[in-house]
Amino acid sequence: MVKKKDLLYEGKAKKVYLTDKEEFLVTEFKNSLTAFNAKKLGSFENKGVINLSITTTIFKYLEKNGIKTHFVENISNNEMVVRRLKMIPLEVVVRNIAAGSFSSRFNIPEGEAFEKPFVEFYYKNDALNDPLLTDEHVLTLKIANQNEINELKLKALKINQALITMFDKADIKLVDFKIEFGKLGSGEIVLGDEISPDSCRLWDKKTDEKLDKDRFRRDLGRVQESYEEVVTRIQKHWGK
Ligand code: ADP
Ligand code: UDP
Repeated sequence: MVKKKDLLYEGKAKKVYLTDKEEFLVTEFKNSLTAFNAKKLGSFENKGVINLSITTTIFKYLEKNGIKTHFVENISNNEMVVRRLKMIPLEVVVRNIAAGSFSSRFNIPEGEAFEKPFVEFYYKNDALNDPLLTDEHVLTLKIANQNEINELKLKALKINQALITMFDKADIKLVDFKIEFGKLGSGEIVLGDEISPDSCRLWDKKTDEKLDKDRFRRDLGRVQESYEEVVTRIQKHWGK
């Protein structure tokens, strides 16, 4: 088993630790909850455990569907061993239904489904407030080359298709989500970070009730209950 060593980085939702093996890290899922670039802070008990559970079920499912992730194994109920990646500083967002920043930027009502899903890139840079990037911005800033941009978009859309199927079985609509990619030593691009109600918009299929971080962002209440609902529903169909 991999042994956890020094803290490498503490982020808003996770702590990242070095291990006794150079190629592995441990990510510890915290109970804290942030929004609006950490201007709004909160937490609830068990949030780390729930998000680790959801991420684990999803990453195992993605692996089964031919999508490579950084997941190795869990060493406690809120700690995951992952392959160490050189992260690409992009928040890769996929949208199926209008919501959030898309709705406010373009004045499109939340809930309007798009004809086809699409990918957006945001610069992962808190000091700049994670600005939206065009492909030319990504190239000019040398964040990724054209082949990598194409690969990131293809991978993101493939992940979207797998997640739509997964959530649909749990009677949940996948509105949009954010993922992060990084590179292994070989240069191969692999899915990293997490996929959880912190990073997805998830609506109940019948009622459109929100089951994600918008409940915290918008003070809708029942935050913990909604995260619990998601883990219960997806694990009922897809296991732990
Ligand atoms: P943030 O940095 O946005 O506050 P987190 O609190 O989730 O986010 O911190 C986790 C950090 O670990 C993020 O910066 C993320 O890019 C990084 N990360 C995720 N997976 C890996 C990995 N496999 N290798 C290296 N870094 C990773
Ligand atoms: N998202 C995220 N981290 C961020 C920004 C967005 O996980 O720093 C997720 C968010 O939960 C949603 C999707 O990415 O599922 C699209 O978010 P949007 O651009 O609408 O921004 P927001 O409304 O969160 O400001």
